[in-house]
Amino acid sequence: MRQDGSEFIVEIRATDYWMNGLLHTLVILRDITAERRAEEALAAQADALARSNADLQQFAYASSHDLQEPLRNISLYAQLLAKRYQGTLGDQADLCIDTIVSSCRRMEALIRDLLAFSRLTSAEAATFRSVDMNVALSWAEKNLELSIKESGAVITADALPVVHGDQVQLVQLFQNLLGNALKYRSASPRVHISAVFADDEWTFSVQDNGVGIAPEYQDRIFGLFKRLHGRDVPGTGVGLAICRRIVEKHGGRMWVASTPGQGSTFFFTLPTQSSLIR
Ligand code: ADP
Repeated sequence: MRQDGSEFIVEIRATDYWMNGLLHTLVILRDITAERRAEEALAAQADALARSNADLQQFAYASSHDLQEPLRNISLYAQLLAKRYQGTLGDQADLCIDTIVSSCRRMEALIRDLLAFSRLTSAEAATFRSVDMNVALSWAEKNLELSIKESGAVITADALPVVHGDQVQLVQLFQNLLGNALKYRSASPRVHISAVFADDEWTFSVQDNGVGIAPEYQDRIFGLFKRLHGRDVPGTGVGLAICRRIVEKHGGRMWVASTPGQGSTFFFTLPTQSSLIR
């Protein structure tokens, strides 16, 4: 208590020492009220931030989930209109109906991907265990079998390690990266996957010889709905946002290095003992 009666938090340290044959005790009292208040304020701020993040995730999940049902109805009835009245209402009407149907398909794809993105952070807990990244890669290749055949891509890989993570998410990660390498490809696409170990973490790379990405866009492409390509190439701009989130949930980082016209290499790290980051 101070002389004026107000209370304060004090830290007391005591040390014994000998001097001139006598045992002395040095006692240091330090007023740590300000420090303690700052710590409490910081903790409260982190708490508020976590709560608002959780609310935002819940909002994204609920709204994309609830948007699906009315959209499905609009889509269904527009398709019904197209089927029943195509060619009977005139060219203008046909064009209108076609636009509604294709816009619905696009909206469905956007909502589906947004839902997949928000599910990554929702309450559905990821299951972490040992994952052989060679197996994860071959699952991804299997899921993309048709696109790989159609594009004539040659995919090669070095031996990959076993990591601690969520198998479904890691397959998805490879699948999105390989899918992009096939979508944004050159005439004879080649993709190579490898991993190196340094400083307690694995750095994976997925290298393609595709169209490449201009330096000013190399960070932006990881944002939600961010695309550099027009409607001629299918996509919603969510794939890389999902990749980055998966990597971050595993405690890693993700980035790209690219030369336009020559290709891109997507890198991601996974710590040896990755644990779930919520
Ligand atoms: P989407 O492929 O659905 O557009 P992504 O989030 O996967 O969404 O990618 C965002 C953008 O980044 C793409 O629209 C494309 O312009 C660019 N991109 C992604 N991967 C590659 C790649 N391997 N080579 C060139 N550009 C790429």
